[in-house]
Amino acid sequence: MSLDTPVSEINFYCKRLSKKLANLGLKTVRDLLFYYPFRYEDLSKIKKINELRAGEPATVKVRVELINNFRSPQKHKKITEALVNDGSGKIQVLWFNQWYLTNIIKPGDELFLIAKLTNNYTKELISPDYEKVSENPTHTGRIIPIYPLTYGLTQKQLRTAIKSALDFVNEIQDYLPQEIISANNLISLKDAVLNIHFPASQESRAQAIERLSFDELFFNQLKNLWLKKDLEKKQAHAAAFHEKETKKFVENLPFKLTNAQRKASWEILKDIELSHPMNRLLNGDVGSGKTLVGALAIYNCALSGLQSVLLAPTEILSYQHYDTFCKLFGNLNIKIGLVTRGQKKMNKELGIRNQAGGKRKKLDSEFITANSNIIIGTHALIQENIKFDKLGLAVIDEQHRFGVEQRAKLTSGEKKYPHLLSMTATPIPRTLALIQYSDLDLSVLDEMPSGRKIIKTYAVSPSKRISSYEFIKKEINSGRQVFVICPLIDASDKLGVKSVTEEYKKLDEKIFPEFNIGMMHGRLKSKEKEEIMQEFKENKINILVSTSVVEVGVDIPNATIMMIEGAERFGLAQLHQFRGRVGRSEHQSYCLLFPTEQPTSRLRAMETTNDGFRLAEMDLELRGPGQIYGKEQSGKIEFRLADMNNMFLIKKAQDAVNNLLADDSELKKSPHLREYLEQKLKNIHLE
Ligand code: ADP
Ligand code: MG
Repeated sequence: MSLDTPVSEINFYCKRLSKKLANLGLKTVRDLLFYYPFRYEDLSKIKKINELRAGEPATVKVRVELINNFRSPQKHKKITEALVNDGSGKIQVLWFNQWYLTNIIKPGDELFLIAKLTNNYTKELISPDYEKVSENPTHTGRIIPIYPLTYGLTQKQLRTAIKSALDFVNEIQDYLPQEIISANNLISLKDAVLNIHFPASQESRAQAIERLSFDELFFNQLKNLWLKKDLEKKQAHAAAFHEKETKKFVENLPFKLTNAQRKASWEILKDIELSHPMNRLLNGDVGSGKTLVGALAIYNCALSGLQSVLLAPTEILSYQHYDTFCKLFGNLNIKIGLVTRGQKKMNKELGIRNQAGGKRKKLDSEFITANSNIIIGTHALIQENIKFDKLGLAVIDEQHRFGVEQRAKLTSGEKKYPHLLSMTATPIPRTLALIQYSDLDLSVLDEMPSGRKIIKTYAVSPSKRISSYEFIKKEINSGRQVFVICPLIDASDKLGVKSVTEEYKKLDEKIFPEFNIGMMHGRLKSKEKEEIMQEFKENKINILVSTSVVEVGVDIPNATIMMIEGAERFGLAQLHQFRGRVGRSEHQSYCLLFPTEQPTSRLRAMETTNDGFRLAEMDLELRGPGQIYGKEQSGKIEFRLADMNNMFLIKKAQDAVNNLLADDSELKKSPHLREYLEQKLKNIHLE
């Protein structure tokens, strides 16, 4: 019996639930023990029936006087009726469709009931949670944990399962050294786990949260420093700063760099001059011009005879980057390769002839990586396990969370490590950046290129749809282009959610027969995706109807309208990303949000706020429990309990790590801790 014992072996009850628990990712005892409640209901005070008030749920302790089953006269519903008494008064209880209750509950039994009165006049409880009176109740008479659930699982079931798992609590090994526990006034891990689920009091609940939050912050910092220390032992190829060429390149651009771009580029170019691997995050709102900053670093690597890779999260974005880089470096004798699952090509045919017959050699990833200065691609690049010749720099666009892992994979086999530049538009609050990315140096683009106009945003009510189409017509007639985003690919019969295929048909046949409409979604073939983006770029397509595949990064400066159907289904940060697809030129741009019904105040926030940061915060504030918009945007997954505003605890945890490592940098004196850490780092370990 251990923490790794499968859920199905705990007891019969858990065995029956094991499929549903697996849907929540709960497969072992450990998973259950470390699945935390997201809130509690304090039902620890036992109230008397004559003290009950509507709107104040409480536990009552009662004796059952009568209990009977019957069918309701008109609808023939199965009803169980009981009369219960606690000495202060009597109350009637009704349960529906649970006739088996009369087998479990008998007159004379003592019960805890959760009493929630709908008003103060009728003394009646409808379907209350109940439990036989005991020393250690689970669902009543205490502070009750409330867990995030999945369909088909009830609080009562999950609570019961977790309580059974707590029988294993003595198996928990405290990985923190005793000195750290004492010095920081923490409770033991075992007590913390017991009390995070079934706290004996509000105070012990607070202590449990403090201990487990401390652990999250502690391990985050420890992990960062551990990786940093590892990295310090590594060597990178130094890329010399080619001042003359860089100046010339910048002068030839059709625009002037912003000061923020200059500063960030400088920081990066200084870093990659060293033979110690750079680890840097470039954070700048949508449209702030991150690509160019990355390009300057890549250019200097190429001039120093080093290769670079640029990794993008989608194929579409890879094509776009390939295109941009071919234009930027087209005349500079720099070889650029593209490697995605569906596409492999290079900008220069130079040296690609097969010596024997002079026939073109098939372009495979191996050939491209061996022969390009810049290799652009998606994950496919990493998965193919290709070897680079002299990899100087890895630039990772819009997926900073994977940066470290990806670098580790890119470099397996090489003696030197590439410099790493992670670029993201996801706004990262400062404290979070300091904590979660304490191993990364930070460059910020806090300035937009000049001449950009504010994107006019409107949450549109259904009655204005026709006039919006008129407006779109006008814009297209004056040469501009339009994105239309729909939440789904195919029509669904539920909820009236708009789909790309339906909307495409409607716009193409009914609304805008005079215009060229294109369709884009993730199920298209690579080649089709690329062709459509190309046609859109060349203004051969006036309106592109798309799913969220164009959410990040896509750059079509001539597009000035972003119209979003079913807008209420997206998070604010996500809507802000979509909006960032327009407003990329001197033309006035517009973002039209079409909710399925009337616009809500949440959507209205988009009209007044242009600040991606603020919108991401509002998302977090407004997001109800269990509601998740699209993919996780906050990047806070590591912190399930820790409060990012609790600077005091953050400092305590960071100090604890710093002191620990100062004294024992290899964790030789804390073998449990080291083992636990290695376990956590298994996936991202540097070779
Ligand atoms: P993001 O930071 O969202 O990745 P991009 O790098 O895609 O932004 O840049 C957005 C657009 O702005 C591109 O069309 C790019 O050519 C242009 N751009 C970049 N820097 C400047 C600048 N300093 N002045 C004007 N336009 C710029
Ligand atoms: Mg970008």
